[in-house]
Amino acid sequence: MKKVLITGANKGIGYETARQLLQAGFYVYLGSRSLENGMHAAEELKREGLTAIEAVQLDVTNDASIKDARRLIGEKTDVLDILINNAGITGVQLHEDGTFVPQTAIDTAVEVYKEVYETNVYGVIRVTQAFLDLLKKSAEPRIVMVSSSQGSITLHSDPYYKYYNHKGSVYLSSKSALNMYTVNLAYELRDTNFKINAVSPGFTKTDLNHNRGTGTVQDAAKRLVKYALIGNDGVTGKFFCEETNPETGEIPW
Ligand code: NAP
Repeated sequence: MKKVLITGANKGIGYETARQLLQAGFYVYLGSRSLENGMHAAEELKREGLTAIEAVQLDVTNDASIKDARRLIGEKTDVLDILINNAGITGVQLHEDGTFVPQTAIDTAVEVYKEVYETNVYGVIRVTQAFLDLLKKSAEPRIVMVSSSQGSITLHSDPYYKYYNHKGSVYLSSKSALNMYTVNLAYELRDTNFKINAVSPGFTKTDLNHNRGTGTVQDAAKRLVKYALIGNDGVTGKFFCEETNPETGEIPW
């Protein structure tokens, strides 16, 4: 049975991705920074008959937590086939009237950037580096970086882009940084069977955006699963968002 680790899988898109990969016959390590929430999520899936799952405490901002998760998973398996770096935050605050406080380039404090980068950038790097040895033992290792089309510098420089006016210097730049990490990692592993792609799930109704997203977690997870299951003849080091480009899915960095 092939094995997958998904970070931030106790809810939202990560949770639905766990469900779809279980349905596809994978064994799922469900990463959750709260073990209690992770176990609760795993129990729910087990109640649906999806039993090849266990919750793993994994806070992507915490080195000790990642080390413990790596040790625990390493005691159970010699091989990891798929890593989905899904955990993410926006750092966006709300005004009292429910409107978003804009993350302006001019005056958003560096502390806000640091907090978001800890999860969305350094967290991904930490987890990827910690699990790379297990992934290298797979015949078909896959890494999906859950990015956002909002991290596309090309799109955000285009006044005709539909989200051109939806700027937000912190979250958007964190995903741009993640994208460049993806390109570098894919390049370094280009002569192997690794397929490493950045995938935007599309604007999806989850806690991340206070449920203002328009898409479903089912569609979002399907988009991630597609690149988690990409064949050995598939691409690596690319950026996809089917919401932005329904034809080929590929979008500019
Ligand atoms: P969500 O429902 O808020 O879920 C985010 C998940 O990340 C939760 O499980 C959360 O855990 C976890 N997480 C946050 N910080 C963590 C940490 N330090 N360590 C481990 N886990 C952590 O959001 P979502 O919409 O499913 O987002 C999933 C991914 O999709 C994110 O990377 C996001 O940037 C990306 N994305 C989402 C949208 C969208 O419209 N929803 C669009 C583009 C990209 P807790 O429950 O403990 O907080």
